[in-house]
Amino acid sequence: MTEATSLATPTRPPHTIRMHVRDNVAIVANDGGLPPGTVLPNGLVLLDKVPQGHKVALVDLPADGPVLRYGIPIGYALKDIPAGSWVHERLLQMPDARGLTDLPMATVKAEAQPPLEGYAFEGYRNADGSVGTRNILAITQTVQCVAGVTDFAVQRIKAELLPRFPNVDDVVALEHSYGCGVAIDAPGAEIPIRTLRNISLNPNFGGEVMVVSLGCEKLQPERLMPPGTIPLIDERAPAPPLDLVCLQDDAHVGFMSMVDSILRQATPHLERLNARRRVTVPASELVVGVQCGGSDAFSGVTANPAVGYCTDLLVRAGASVMFSETTEVRDGIDQLTSRASTPEVAEAMIREMAWYDAYLQRGKVDRSANTTPGNKKGGLSNIVEKAMGSIVKSGSVAITGVLSPGEKIKQKGLTYAATPASDFICGTLQLAAGMNLHVFTTGRGTPYGLAQVPVIKVATRSDLARRWHDLMDVNAGTIADGDATIEDVGWELFKLMLEVASGRKKTWAEHWKLHNALVLFNPAPVT
Ligand code: CA
Repeated sequence: MTEATSLATPTRPPHTIRMHVRDNVAIVANDGGLPPGTVLPNGLVLLDKVPQGHKVALVDLPADGPVLRYGIPIGYALKDIPAGSWVHERLLQMPDARGLTDLPMATVKAEAQPPLEGYAFEGYRNADGSVGTRNILAITQTVQCVAGVTDFAVQRIKAELLPRFPNVDDVVALEHSYGCGVAIDAPGAEIPIRTLRNISLNPNFGGEVMVVSLGCEKLQPERLMPPGTIPLIDERAPAPPLDLVCLQDDAHVGFMSMVDSILRQATPHLERLNARRRVTVPASELVVGVQCGGSDAFSGVTANPAVGYCTDLLVRAGASVMFSETTEVRDGIDQLTSRASTPEVAEAMIREMAWYDAYLQRGKVDRSANTTPGNKKGGLSNIVEKAMGSIVKSGSVAITGVLSPGEKIKQKGLTYAATPASDFICGTLQLAAGMNLHVFTTGRGTPYGLAQVPVIKVATRSDLARRWHDLMDVNAGTIADGDATIEDVGWELFKLMLEVASGRKKTWAEHWKLHNALVLFNPAPVT
């Protein structure tokens, strides 16, 4: 789909990229942009300075006429725009959002792609059949009140206990701001509760659940983890009671007795985790969550198409892939419903989008609240343009599953996991869905990372990859430079995933221990 043109002059030849044959704009690929008077390879002369990643009019665009990128109107010209002009967001009227009625339902039968066999990684097999890519003790908290005590205990576990358990990668407190001061029976409160429950059961935690509770909070431990929630190693044995440290317990006298309780109760979990060994499992055991953050106009040209190619590879290998970020795919709803494997899957997608439309309306905003100043500086005029570049992360395979926020993934193949686009909330919800590997593309640059799963970061531009050489794991900017194809970078990412999943390679975020907070999506009121 990419049509790249370049001129072979020795110093930085002008280079523009057009995504679709119908497009009447292209983006400037050169670092630093191009000055007025630049002659493009097709003979067009730039009338304005056009910054890198920004659009240039390839033909005269009449007032009210469509500005086409990715083959669709990303806006309508507010006045006549001569060929060679810089086409920025102030010259565009954004199209209305596509309605949620009369959509094409499961009309596109995705081209059958041959299965991809013979790819494997070394992972930790869990009792419930899932596979971990890391071996981590997670300590669940019912409420924010206990965060300081738990963190104190975690520091001691790391210093005093972990050296005895070399096969355990880390100890992580699942800190969050929920649990009390919230309308816990309000519609929507189930979302943060099930998110926290399902994160505790993420494959990277080996089924070892321990909970620290305060005692008086609204989110009581039994409500967070009802009996039967935790998969049993031996299904014939009776379910053990929830392993709980309650700080308000009468038995606790003084702060250190609370800390000692956490250390004492953590020990058997660490012993069991330490006894586990990686085994060879097929690539189909990967559960990959993809998202983007700090996007620019290159996101949809380099990194996201490469991730999309990799999504197809993963699905061909039998793995699970989730794409999310409702406000960033909303404008492509017709593409998504047509790619659904069945009308039921398309209906489920429409249901999630309608819920989110209503959620935004309650706050008197619409999906246009998504684009950031950085997105616009990077060349993305509006959410329609951003969405077209975001959707390509989902590749070309059929969409076979849909999840509501905080639900656990149920199947292999490509799933639409409905989440906000907020990086931390999306990552938190994909963790709850059960991802064991995270892929994150960025153009403006973000040092995003999670403590619970490895995060592979993909840069959209070589300039970013060069400056952030010890933060970015993959440089998809080589696609815009003409040094690699989308397929090349897609395969590079796929192979890197198997290395990272096996623990043979650490991502930069793991190396530096860059950990963003868990942020629970709570659409319900607080009190
Ligand atoms: Ca995001």
